[in-house]
Amino acid sequence: MTSALLHEALAPLRSNPEASAVLFDIDGTLAPIVANATESRVPEPTRQLLIAVARRYGLVACITGRRAADARALVSIGTITYIGSHGAELLKAGWTEAVLDPSMREWVDRIADFRRRADTAELRRSRVRIEDKGPIVAFHWRGATDEQAARAAVDALASQAEAAGLEVHWGRKVMEARPPVPIDKGAGVVNLLRDAHVSVAMFTGDDVTDLDAFRTLRKLRQHDELAHALCVGVRSEEGPPEIVDEADIVVDGTDGVRELLIALVAEADEPAGARDADQPAGVGDADQPAGTSEVDEPAGVGDADQPGGVGDADEPAGTDEADDSRGAGVAADADQPPGAAGAAG
Ligand SMILES: [Mg+2]
Repeated sequence: MTSALLHEALAPLRSNPEASAVLFDIDGTLAPIVANATESRVPEPTRQLLIAVARRYGLVACITGRRAADARALVSIGTITYIGSHGAELLKAGWTEAVLDPSMREWVDRIADFRRRADTAELRRSRVRIEDKGPIVAFHWRGATDEQAARAAVDALASQAEAAGLEVHWGRKVMEARPPVPIDKGAGVVNLLRDAHVSVAMFTGDDVTDLDAFRTLRKLRQHDELAHALCVGVRSEEGPPEIVDEADIVVDGTDGVRELLIALVAEADEPAGARDADQPAGVGDADQPAGTSEVDEPAGVGDADQPGGVGDADEPAGTDEADDSRGAGVAADADQPPGAAGAAG
């Protein structure tokens, strides 16, 4: 995609950034796919650009299958919102904890109860590993001494889960018991946009689960709940063909996403290509002195001496400092206690 076409596609967002939502998947979109998912990371130039985007646009969020808190630790930006567990969890800038979708909330105790009852001495002897994923409980039997016996124990648990009204999902040597509540990234987008005052929204993703977000944005546009919707497909070798077929525009891999970010923050009359890719363009708002936004200088990005008006009113200054979001400190925001979350569900 040429830079001129990219700019044309982004025009509705760029012309009214305060009323625009900019939403991203993480793995394969912001962070390159790696063999071990625990080792994935967002490249620093991408992260700096995302901080610049967060300053300019009304709502910036990552929507992922990961737990919301894990997503924030991975992306390491405290001033944006995270939707975790495929739409079930909401973690806004400044919050200490993610909040569960109300439809999931009533199931949490039942899932926990099921998890406790499943955790017997017999199951432990069979080396089935229980993973507490909040609203989901997973039973892994990979590596059990007797995998067949362990699998039989998990089969019995699956029957019990179904009898308890839970939904059973099988993966690679793992069984998950989940609430029987439809959750997907589309539902997450709806929840996110419900209270956001935006008229334009863009979603960027690379995989099957992102199609739900694409379709939801289109539906919101058709129902005039959005003036514009833009679905950006991230093309990759192992990605599904639908992500390209159903996209409005397509970018190539995580490098293409970085170009997209550059275009989002480029100055009005400046083509994206004119700017150095390593430089987080657009953080240079007219009243911000040049040089304050260099990639190697993350500390300044969210400081109080930043010109006013660049951030969302709900967004506490200083939370997007480089290391903040790795610890609990990011969330210590007196203006927005976790309790406020109920209103956002
Ligand atoms: Mg992905």
